[in-house]
Amino acid sequence: MVIIGSSNARVGLERGMEILRDGGTALDAVEQAIWAVESNVDDHSVGLGGLPNLVGEVELDASIMDGATLAAGAVGGVHGVLHPISLARRVMEELPHAFLVGAGAERFARECGFPVTELLTEDARRIYERGLSGEDQDSGRYAGKILRAMVGRLALDPERASGKDAGTVNVLALDGAGHLVAGVSTSGFAWKYPGRVGDSAVIGAGNYCDDRYGAAACTGRGEMAIRAATAHTVVRGLKDGLSPAEAGRQAFLELDWLVDAFWSGMNAVVLAPDGRHAAFSTVEHTTYVYMDEASTAVESAPRTLVAVTGRPA
Ligand code: ASP
Repeated sequence: MVIIGSSNARVGLERGMEILRDGGTALDAVEQAIWAVESNVDDHSVGLGGLPNLVGEVELDASIMDGATLAAGAVGGVHGVLHPISLARRVMEELPHAFLVGAGAERFARECGFPVTELLTEDARRIYERGLSGEDQDSGRYAGKILRAMVGRLALDPERASGKDAGTVNVLALDGAGHLVAGVSTSGFAWKYPGRVGDSAVIGAGNYCDDRYGAAACTGRGEMAIRAATAHTVVRGLKDGLSPAEAGRQAFLELDWLVDAFWSGMNAVVLAPDGRHAAFSTVEHTTYVYMDEASTAVESAPRTLVAVTGRPA
């Protein structure tokens, strides 16, 4: 039994491990660990307290994938849902679909009885407004300026500008029955264009899981993980017989071809069916967290740096 996550998963990891130790499923462990992060108002990259999009609305993406069946559920561009990871799970378990977005996802949340919650905290609103200072605050007249405002905004996201793994939560778990599950939840990039969905909701990009080979999940610039199918590429490497360390390194080397003006770093966590784990970052000095059967508390380990320098001209 092992549970690993991005460093901000620390607040939920003990709960996840407790579920595994009690004989619970990886699915419950991942969902519950991510719940704790989604409820954490001090985390401005996930759920309650997440930073809003360009017009000031908190817009969430999440996904979950079950390695036993390759079933997956995802939601993108959702407002007012405190626990999008649970909504993603309901999509996976109750609908003949894998991915709902926007109004349809919110409708499904209401049908499932999820309460409508205001997710924009005062703190997050202040950060958002500071980011827009000097800009027209009226969203109607502001519309014409959106594209111009977008230029550079991604790089200004305080949670993500460094490329460190502060934003978005990844949790991967291996339960006592040998099943793997991967979950991701995020408020996405602050000041993102309304309707922008990142890798966190895209199976294969920010999340992939297969009991036979392993699980992987990403944080960082979602557009890159989408373009390079990063989570799937890592798992494909495991399928081809690479170690978790080598599978991650190889997948990250692919990113070298994708560097663009909005480059802000990428990170991934990887868990193999035998419990080996590893994590990667394009940024120095980042960490991830884990617990295994021997752990008495959440443990932290350095991510392997994979330098991405950009495609030669
Ligand atoms: N991957 C997330 C996204 O692109 C953001 C992040 O992890 O910081 O929405």
